[in-house]
Amino acid sequence: MQKINVKPGAKIEDYKAYGSLYSSVLDFLEQSKNSLQAIQGCTIWMINSTAIGGGVAEMLPSQMRILRELGASIEWLVIEAKEEAFFDLTKRMHNAIHGSGDGKFSEADREIYESVNRQNLSKALQLIKDGDIVVVHDPQPMPLAAMIKKERNVPIIWRCHIGLEEDTEVTDAVWNFLSPYTDDYDHFIFSLPSYVPKSLKKKTSIIPPAIDPLSHKNRALQLHKCIGILYQSGILDEHKAILYHRYNHLVRRILPDGSFGEVNAQEDLNFLYRPIVTEISRWDRLKGFKELMQAFIKMKHDNRKFGDPDSLEYKRIEMTLLILGGPDPAFVSDDPEGQMVLKELTEQYQAADPSMQNSIAILLLPLDNPKENALIVNALQRSSSIVVQNSIQEGFGLTATEAMWKRKPVLVSGAAGLKYQVEHNKTGKINEDPTDIASLSKALVYMLNHPKERDKWGFNGQSRVIQNFTLFSQLISWLDVFARIKT
Ligand code: UDP
Repeated sequence: MQKINVKPGAKIEDYKAYGSLYSSVLDFLEQSKNSLQAIQGCTIWMINSTAIGGGVAEMLPSQMRILRELGASIEWLVIEAKEEAFFDLTKRMHNAIHGSGDGKFSEADREIYESVNRQNLSKALQLIKDGDIVVVHDPQPMPLAAMIKKERNVPIIWRCHIGLEEDTEVTDAVWNFLSPYTDDYDHFIFSLPSYVPKSLKKKTSIIPPAIDPLSHKNRALQLHKCIGILYQSGILDEHKAILYHRYNHLVRRILPDGSFGEVNAQEDLNFLYRPIVTEISRWDRLKGFKELMQAFIKMKHDNRKFGDPDSLEYKRIEMTLLILGGPDPAFVSDDPEGQMVLKELTEQYQAADPSMQNSIAILLLPLDNPKENALIVNALQRSSSIVVQNSIQEGFGLTATEAMWKRKPVLVSGAAGLKYQVEHNKTGKINEDPTDIASLSKALVYMLNHPKERDKWGFNGQSRVIQNFTLFSQLISWLDVFARIKT
């Protein structure tokens, strides 16, 4: 069990200074007064299974910073597990809650599940006192809070970041396996109402995930800064075919003081010819990387076969570049499948013909330094013409919200979470079936050939995020749950 240090970051005043965020900050400050009062004197313990990578680790630091600034006591603990079998099991649970896998869980599974959680118990008990609040994120540490509750007088909350809209045999099996622990919980939080299993309906709240607009992942980056980050990270150098061409002229125009020189009209036009399509996610089969690569290759093949080489449309498609990015599996301990998924994707890439390979980059992002990782993701998202999230299942895709905040048009699958976030033909396109390669390829072609729509969708996306998916709207709901559970 490790206590995670949260580094200083943006303050409430910084958010207020952004005109578009001002009213949500004020609403939050107004609506949180009573709830903050209710949790005075107790500590909120957030417990999950990793301090880096994925949506939970992404959101917690910003939430903690703001709550601490307002005087709340909140800490973050990460469970430790040496046994590989533990994360194999919890990954199977994760997949099963999404309705995938065989849904088979044995008594041996239960043994490893409980024994790893028990190994983390004594450290937790040294820290957690009667009257505190314990919040467990996702299935990995679920038995731990139930064990803590036996020793301490604390309410326990389970925050589930994943979900499937309909019950299936597989989801029933995993909820069944988890029922001895869920029975002990006082409250549950899901991202969408449709994810709540029947057995838990009575004591749940709904909190859609949200982004921190001023984190390193989302803060504004001037173009020269983006280029600098991509150069430093090696992406520009190694993948000349991708970004060097696109920014070649501009790179030479960065002045010694770091400012950005004039842009030449001809070069602006060249931008149109080199669109970039990006998906950045964990290496997880449910993220639909494989299908996206297939659709991209199909799009190019079809273009070469049926397109008119002199047309603008042909050139756009021909020049388009695909970036698939995700964490370097060497740094991810709680996702044993990542390495395998990446291997499958690499094999698919190697099997493509060389002219396709030149247009595709698979990037491993350095997760060991969270700030560096966040800035690279930020710069990549900002350099993209279209941000894709082709998830087979997605409880809620933070990546889509991040892209919308950056005014990027998004192309997402019809997975429930993404459908809730994205408005079809208003903030991007929803391609219902992420495994339908032909329709995905068609959606890509449409978006690539409608730059004005893309601009409009990007703009609408940012407004949608400000209204619904920022840190502050989410914190109001969290505080409300804490206050209710304390009274
Ligand atoms: N992410 C990252 N580096 C990577 C891959 C993903 O920082 O190499 C971030 C991504 O920007 C997002 C989060 O991890 O903030 C993923 O959250 P999401 O809800 O999209 O998916 P999850 O991983 O929780 O299933």
